[in-house]
Amino acid sequence: MLSDRFGRTIDYLRISVTDRCDLRCSYCIPKGFKGFEEPENWLTFDEISRVVAAFARLGTRRFRLTGGEPLLRRNLPALAASLSALPGVEDLSLSTNATQLSQHAQALRDAGVRRINVSLDSLRGECVTSITGSDSLGKVLSGLATASRIGFDAIKINMVPMQGINDGDIEAMVAFCIEHGFILRLIEAMPMGSTGQHTVGLNLQTLLGQLQPRFGLLPSTASLGGGPARYWRTPDGKFTLGLITPISQHFCATCNRVRLSVDGTLYMCLGQEERFELRPLLRAGCSDAELEAAIRAAIELKPEKHEFLEKPARVVRFMSMTGG
Ligand code: SAM
Repeated sequence: MLSDRFGRTIDYLRISVTDRCDLRCSYCIPKGFKGFEEPENWLTFDEISRVVAAFARLGTRRFRLTGGEPLLRRNLPALAASLSALPGVEDLSLSTNATQLSQHAQALRDAGVRRINVSLDSLRGECVTSITGSDSLGKVLSGLATASRIGFDAIKINMVPMQGINDGDIEAMVAFCIEHGFILRLIEAMPMGSTGQHTVGLNLQTLLGQLQPRFGLLPSTASLGGGPARYWRTPDGKFTLGLITPISQHFCATCNRVRLSVDGTLYMCLGQEERFELRPLLRAGCSDAELEAAIRAAIELKPEKHEFLEKPARVVRFMSMTGG
């Protein structure tokens, strides 16, 4: 097992297969942004597979494909199929904005993707258009319907509530999730890059105080993927709410993850700069043992915690660059 200087076990790798996205969410990639990674610097599928295989040999069991928008990377199901066939890869999941999910959901399921998270900040078309810069709600709903029909293990909706923008949409989202059997996860906006730093998110502790009596929510011990969300459920078990609170109650003491970006950089923390570049090693023909040693050395760099509250201007990367 990989463990860091603070005794945390690192058993989860998020893999960004592209830093590009077809949406421009107001808290993520700025409109007009041009600084995307050049294709020659993207890890190839073989290089990603080598890194995943090395993590798996070191005890990592759970992997998530993300981005940018991962479905923009051509032939993603082929990558998913080779990753899920690797010894030790027990759980392969995907985060997507779902604009292209209807076309790819079946191929992804066949390729071994079991769980899907979909970002959706509102059920009002005009609100989605204003947040994402694209009239995308119809495509997202159709992607969700296809994924539901195919039957992924758990479909989670990720929503970033923002003051005065979509905070009035939370109850409608709860009702939608109850109707379709989706798990709703609310995420506090993080000050990542200029976009994140200008976003006014909601304090989810305060929101919980309002939702708890309204829906009779009870704390749930479910780990549901082993991430940082803390879960609540309705007494009838028909609805599960997850809260991800990097700002109001951070969870760094139990952080179990690192992130591989499209250019082969391992980022140790969303909110800090510690990183380790694997691409030069991979392209210099390193051995498996050298790759494993590099991963162990990288994990040594993992910082104790992020400092989103203390130093909100610190992180200049947008979430899409690290692989959110
Ligand atoms: N495109 C995929 C998607 O939409 O899920 C994966 C990448 S996206 C960057 C992953 C998640 O990061 C989304 O749920 C998005 O809402 C979230 N995100 C992006 N920027 C954020 C920020 N500044 N604060 C909090 N969440 C953010």
